[in-house]
Amino acid sequence: MKILKFGGTSVGSAERMHALAKLIDDKSPKIIVLSAMSGTTNNLVEIAAALYLKENEKASSLIKELKTKYETVIKQLYKTEAGLNKGKGLLESHFGYLHSFTIDLFTINEERAILAQGELLSTALFHYYLEEININSTLLPALNFMRIDENEEPDMNYIERNSKQELGKNPSADLYITQGYICRNAFGEIDNLKRGGSDYTATLIGAAIQAEEIQIWTDIDGMHNNDPRVVEKTQAIAELSFDEAAELAYFGAKILHPTCILPAQNKNIPVRLLNTMQPQAKGTVISSRTTGDNIKAVAAKDDITAINIKSGRMLLAYGFLRAVFEIFERYKTPIDMITTSEVAVSLTIDNTKNLEAIKSELEEFCKVEIETNLTIVCIVGSFTAEKQGYAFRIFDALKNIPIRMISYGGSKNNVSILVDSKLKKDTLIALNKGLF
Ligand code: ASP
Ligand code: MG
Repeated sequence: MKILKFGGTSVGSAERMHALAKLIDDKSPKIIVLSAMSGTTNNLVEIAAALYLKENEKASSLIKELKTKYETVIKQLYKTEAGLNKGKGLLESHFGYLHSFTIDLFTINEERAILAQGELLSTALFHYYLEEININSTLLPALNFMRIDENEEPDMNYIERNSKQELGKNPSADLYITQGYICRNAFGEIDNLKRGGSDYTATLIGAAIQAEEIQIWTDIDGMHNNDPRVVEKTQAIAELSFDEAAELAYFGAKILHPTCILPAQNKNIPVRLLNTMQPQAKGTVISSRTTGDNIKAVAAKDDITAINIKSGRMLLAYGFLRAVFEIFERYKTPIDMITTSEVAVSLTIDNTKNLEAIKSELEEFCKVEIETNLTIVCIVGSFTAEKQGYAFRIFDALKNIPIRMISYGGSKNNVSILVDSKLKKDTLIALNKGLF
């Protein structure tokens, strides 16, 4: 069994859904994971925000607007009267549900139920379309098997047990369709795997059923060796190891959700990144295979804040870093990069929600400086300690760029540098020239 995940643009219009039906119709056993049609989740976020502020009229008109979009889609999607009627019935039920919130009480739980409508709609619309063109498919309700625990982590045992049970209900089926992104939480309420979470759904199902391969289909031909929005002539990378891909996904290669590598890595299932617009392109394969020492790619992560901590007490002392880290732990703020000298530590965060509180606690025992609008540029590949020359190549490429922080040696897959965000473009271009 293979898992194939298609993102919002791959189901973004009736035309795209028609193309998708052709793409998947090869009779090999598969589970298709779909995102909401592109734009829909953003629209649902707006609707929920209006409801939250009790701007019910605004919410109503946003719901109407979205429904009109879907009415156009079903007219183009279905060719038969029966198909169209099914589509209409589906829209009535989902948009009637959305509309009910403009009358009833609205809390955070309802918000999540609203966000779930996008994936519920796209999967049902596609399933009915397949039915119309006589392709047999089975809808697998993600809400029956996808679940997170009290810590908002996937409940792997539950997912394994329940996904197998759902598949077992229809043992002769070979084409399943399920919703990405949506799940239930520890209280059994509707919840989600955070924005962009459909990739995560795909790898979680893949791991749960020990799939043969997980394919993530988007509108770009794999992971590129640099940011195609910033640098010209970037190239798709043919092969990456799980560790390299995880670094790239975390540090800004927008094509993959950062947490989604781990479930596949744990079960050693290859993940293939493919392009719906160019199904023949080779894309990128992510697997446990390492392809030798090499610099493979560069990625950048914006909106980084650096915290510079200085204390005379740090000199020859132990326990200082523990005291610092405990503060970040208490405020649930992950640290990305860190460098130390004998009397100072610099570290970076991207979640600044509790920055003020963290700063004032740190100030109880050290001097603190904050710098904002920074970018982490990370260089990913395999840099073994025995091989010389990587640092030289990287810093030679960057000889004209002022660098704020450097982190080398934390893992053999990543060298990170911190620069002013104004220099991001220059940095990426310089690295592209110097490294590839
Ligand atoms: N529809 C969700 C989002 O837009 C999940 C996804 O597309 O992966 O974030
Ligand atoms: Mg996505």
